[in-house]
Amino acid sequence: MKTLPSADVVIIGGGWTGLLMAKELGARTSLAVVILERGGPRNLQDYSAGMDELDYFVRLHMMQDPSQETVTLRHNANERALPIRQFGAFLPGSGVGGTGEHWGAVYPRLQPDCFEMYSKTVERYGAKRLPEEHSVQDWGVTYDELEPYYTRSEQMAGVTGKAGNLRGKKIEGGNVFEGWRSAEYPNPPAKTPYFSSMFREAAKSLGYHPYPTPAAILSQTYTNPDGVTRSACVFCGYCERHGCMIGAKAQPTNTLLPLVRRQKSVSLRSGCTVRRIVHDAAQAGGKAHGVNYIDASGEEVFQPADLVILCSFTLSNNRLLLLSGAGTPYDPATGKGTLGKNLTHQVSFPAATSFFEKPLNRFMGAGGIGIRMSDFDGDVFDHTNLPFLRGGVLNASMQGAQPIAPFGVLPRSIKARWGSEWKKASIDYYDRTSSVSFGGEQIPYKGNYFDLDPTYRDHAGDPLLRLTQNWRENERKMVEFMTAKAVEIAHAMGAKEINPYPGYGDYDVTRYQSTHIQGGTIMATSPDRGVVNTHLQHWQIPNLFVLGASTFPNSGSANPTPTILALTYRTADILVERYLKKPGMLA
Ligand SMILES: Cc1cc2nc3c(=O)[nH]c(=O)nc-3n(C[C@H](O)[C@H](O)[C@H](O)COP(=O)(O)OP(=O)(O)OC[C@H]3O[C@@H](n4cnc5c(N)ncnc54)[C@H](O)[C@@H]3O)c2cc1C
Repeated sequence: MKTLPSADVVIIGGGWTGLLMAKELGARTSLAVVILERGGPRNLQDYSAGMDELDYFVRLHMMQDPSQETVTLRHNANERALPIRQFGAFLPGSGVGGTGEHWGAVYPRLQPDCFEMYSKTVERYGAKRLPEEHSVQDWGVTYDELEPYYTRSEQMAGVTGKAGNLRGKKIEGGNVFEGWRSAEYPNPPAKTPYFSSMFREAAKSLGYHPYPTPAAILSQTYTNPDGVTRSACVFCGYCERHGCMIGAKAQPTNTLLPLVRRQKSVSLRSGCTVRRIVHDAAQAGGKAHGVNYIDASGEEVFQPADLVILCSFTLSNNRLLLLSGAGTPYDPATGKGTLGKNLTHQVSFPAATSFFEKPLNRFMGAGGIGIRMSDFDGDVFDHTNLPFLRGGVLNASMQGAQPIAPFGVLPRSIKARWGSEWKKASIDYYDRTSSVSFGGEQIPYKGNYFDLDPTYRDHAGDPLLRLTQNWRENERKMVEFMTAKAVEIAHAMGAKEINPYPGYGDYDVTRYQSTHIQGGTIMATSPDRGVVNTHLQHWQIPNLFVLGASTFPNSGSANPTPTILALTYRTADILVERYLKKPGMLA
């Protein structure tokens, strides 16, 4: 194995968190920083050739290649897990920019009580209301502490939206249920698509509080506080699962990479897959010494470093810590160990697929653009007499329907499944169909966790990550309740026919759910409850920090990236202002 000269910092993963941390360290310190990214390099101009639905949307051009490395899944600890041969429910990215290149850019903050789900639920309903098998615990970081960092991340990404709670003052037209915000969004909402405007009027007529979906997609030309200028979205419709051709959608490559490239002290090596974090944590005073990786030519390399920052998305964050023996694997039978516990996946589904007389022009759109309502989010509504806890957001977004994937979705009254009748109906309905969708919280359970698969290995011979994950009654009842609400709204929108969502059975890896998988390396105020402390510093290895949704103790209804980036900014401040001045375990 080749050993390279030592770096001050090695960052594993060149996606949202890795490039943001590199940008902050590059601008604020003179440390020699190395970023190791397993996938290839990327440039904005690569995306001009990217409007190919078959290649990008259907064949998942930008995602991790499951023939090289995948994960296995089972629904409970008594089953044998099987490898996922084709990603479906979630789509991990690979390449510079990571999953953040082909995301949808919906940019909501978490509800404040999401950070204190355990204590707030017990306070309002009593401990007995929590499901028997739950493993809910507070984060140790509160919304109030994170608020300034949310604001910073919104300014960096140029988020569009309308505040509904400015320093405690409720504002109609914004999300009146959101936590307080210290500043208005940096950009006004984008134009409202037709389908979304029908949702807004219908929701209002039913007494709800619709508001524009916050999105990291520009509504006007914008220069962020780092001096990066991007132009407004043109609603081309090739957004999620694609990189943005004009840079209107915030991506790591158009907001962070230009700055990282300017920093002489930061180097980015693509095609480098990290296989181990090298450490001696078993000894007193042990620490990380660097990482082993395989470079683009297949050579094994040791990169020594004083500080290791793990930024490789929830799945790789868990797998690399498990492979490296960095933490005690969680054992669901005894409840001992913390590494791998509290796997959650945001509940997400098309609650009411609705069919209209009039065309919707739905080929125009962009990732997060649309209207949503939070009247049934978190604990905004009383759950005393409901058969479930927590909730989520109903929304009508217009992502831009491309020609292939949305084709052939028909009302249930049409029985033909092939042939000329099916073809005619599919063409008729192509532009007359859309969904009122739902995104909600999954409560963490003792039986849902990550560990290493005892059978299946990757192309390099290392065990795959195993997911043990299933829905419980809480999610199933929530889905039933929210489907009924969505159907009510779709009727008020004038839908000619509605396909209500059939409900949640077992966790399904074939239907796209969302790439919002959390947990496994969760934060906690003590080492017996989590892998990292609230600074995101590893409890046993003080010079190892872990960033990303793997540190979330529970799922929010909100998409995770705003919280991921807010926490990254916070950890960057902690590193620069405290850790680097006095390395060691932070109090
Ligand atoms: C289709 C889609 C839509 C989405 N929409 C939204 C949305 O609307 N809103 C939202 O908030 N979130 C959304 N997300 C999720 C969002 O993209 C992620 O939350 C975010 O990118 C996470 O940032 P990260 O830095 O943790 O991971 P990433 O951005 O994925 O970066 C991790 C990087 O680490 C690299 N890596 C992994 N393992 C290794 C290794 N062993 N060695 C070296 N490098 C490694 C990966 O290749 C990757 O580049 C979406 C995701 C997808 C796929």
